[in-house]
Amino acid sequence: MTVETHEFQAEARQLLDLVVHSIYSNKDIFLRELLSNSSDALDKLHLEGLVHPESGADLSDLHIRLEADPKQRTLKVIDNGIGMTREEVRNLIGTIARSGTAEFLNKLREGQDQGASAEMIGQFGVGFYSVFMVADRVVLETRRPGQASGTRWESSGEGTYTLQDVEGPAQGTVITLYLKPADSEDGLADYTSEWVLRDLVKRYSDFLSYPIRMQVSKGDSTEDATLNSMKALWARPTDEVKPEEYHEFYRHIAHDWMDPLETISMKGEGTFEFQALLFIPSKAPLDLFMPDARRGVQLYVKKVFIMDRCEELLPEYLRFMRGVVDAQDLSLNVSREILQQDRQIRAIRKGLTRKITATLKEMKEGRPETYRTFWNEFGRVLKEGLFREPDQQETLLDLCMFPSTDSSEPTDLADYVSRMKPEQEAIYYLIGENRLILENSPHLEAFRQKGYEVLLLQDTVDAIWVEQVADFQGKPFHSASQSSLELGSEEEKKEAESRLEEQRKELASLLAWLGTRLSEQIKNVQLSSRLTTSPACLVSDADDPSPTMEKLLKAMGQELPPVKRILEINPTHPVIQRLHALYSEKGDDAFLGQVAEMLHAQALLAEGGELPDISRFSHNLVDLMDRALG
Ligand code: ADP
Repeated sequence: MTVETHEFQAEARQLLDLVVHSIYSNKDIFLRELLSNSSDALDKLHLEGLVHPESGADLSDLHIRLEADPKQRTLKVIDNGIGMTREEVRNLIGTIARSGTAEFLNKLREGQDQGASAEMIGQFGVGFYSVFMVADRVVLETRRPGQASGTRWESSGEGTYTLQDVEGPAQGTVITLYLKPADSEDGLADYTSEWVLRDLVKRYSDFLSYPIRMQVSKGDSTEDATLNSMKALWARPTDEVKPEEYHEFYRHIAHDWMDPLETISMKGEGTFEFQALLFIPSKAPLDLFMPDARRGVQLYVKKVFIMDRCEELLPEYLRFMRGVVDAQDLSLNVSREILQQDRQIRAIRKGLTRKITATLKEMKEGRPETYRTFWNEFGRVLKEGLFREPDQQETLLDLCMFPSTDSSEPTDLADYVSRMKPEQEAIYYLIGENRLILENSPHLEAFRQKGYEVLLLQDTVDAIWVEQVADFQGKPFHSASQSSLELGSEEEKKEAESRLEEQRKELASLLAWLGTRLSEQIKNVQLSSRLTTSPACLVSDADDPSPTMEKLLKAMGQELPPVKRILEINPTHPVIQRLHALYSEKGDDAFLGQVAEMLHAQALLAEGGELPDISRFSHNLVDLMDRALG
């Protein structure tokens, strides 16, 4: 039959190149990847056979077989699972469909992003490509049950592969590796050796639930042996399972190449029985915030695999969790639609959520270092729960950590509250893009003077939850950049107010003039007692969205009328005083107009904002420099 030659998709080729030539010192893992794929293929067939007995799939002896030939230097990995159609071979093996791949590859190649480590490559479904670390040529033959002919795929991993229809391969998939010579310096073991294979299966794939068989020597003859124990890990008592076994299992289900940060094993008893084995990854996947991200855990029913990425089992703010849930009483036939309304699923979800948050709490209190890692990777996601699941607010607020003006390490809210000044009424926060901008913001001046701590919020979700969460332990959250903010005791506030009252009278003409002059940019002008060293700052009216929120709403496609803010000026600042003197003397003119505009621009820049008209700003700046230089 005709042989077609195809090129790997460009991204697939790059990934292949990386896998083969540069990254992995541990070549052995190719076997884990192949066995993992075979096990998935058997799972899929098993389920299809149970749900559609008419499909003609043969479920009688689902297994994986290894055949090694030391003379020919070949290794075959054979399964009688679901196989692939010709189209699937092309799509699954020749291309990489995951979003963000190109971007990730660039980062990895240029070595700019510390986060984009070689280990993360596993996320892109490159498992199969790892065969080219150990083989110069690979042949894959596969047939779906029920189809008359199968497909043969062959490649040496260098840009192209061939495809051809073939008659008669058995149901499932046979992968033949033409092995490179064993070379211990290069990390290549002899993958035709019985002992090497036994050892690798034990190490990486012992828990797979189908037998992995091989002909082994026994005295002078040979016999068939099963190399793995096939024990479902989640069903075994935790004290019998070694951490490495859990880790291997995690890698199998999460397609991760790193160890998990935390393993959580639980048994749900009562009305609905279930067992769960969950993992917190040690690193956030690149697509955590992408809409089509892989998320959810695997669902089993009485040890039969039902589906991958069952989203209904966990709330969205726990979407980073990986693992397995085995429910006792669900039907094998469950569909996604049923899952969404199922009482049992809801009960399981509640139980899992409770267990996960309790584990996090325990980690936060007992292992702060580990918790810090967790929070850095997944805190942004967890905070989504603050507004997505109001009944979890209290639990989640306890878990939150925030950077603050008082320390370089993030603080939790309980500690913040314990440091509050006696007369301090609220928990203060400031939202902005990064710590540097926030720390230099004029909004903090009054807080510094009073010695009040301010949370420095820098994640996009912060702008959302602060509007939804009323308080923590009875203390309300207040933005440090909101108008009419007065700090201090009642007495101090009164004092400040009467001082302002006087200054307001004195500067009335300046306030009125600035208000008109800048009416296109701002809502109005107020005097402020919050500023010490800056001449002015911008604040939001209590009912208006904050600038971050405004940006967010716009990014989500909402039409918003422009939100004008309030310019607060510092009556004691020399610039304001001189401006007032000049204005009183000469009245409005072009030069003072420029100063007014610069005052507004400077306030915007100081909080890290963007100037609406940069050319006008730079024009003003040059004029003013010219004037200052005489
Ligand atoms: P991943 O397993 O991470 O998705 P792979 O590159 O290892 O990535 O495999 C790509 C896809 O090819 C798998 O998701 C699966 O759909 C298919 N596949 C691989 N091996 C087999 C197999 N032995 N039987 C059936 N399908 C397979």
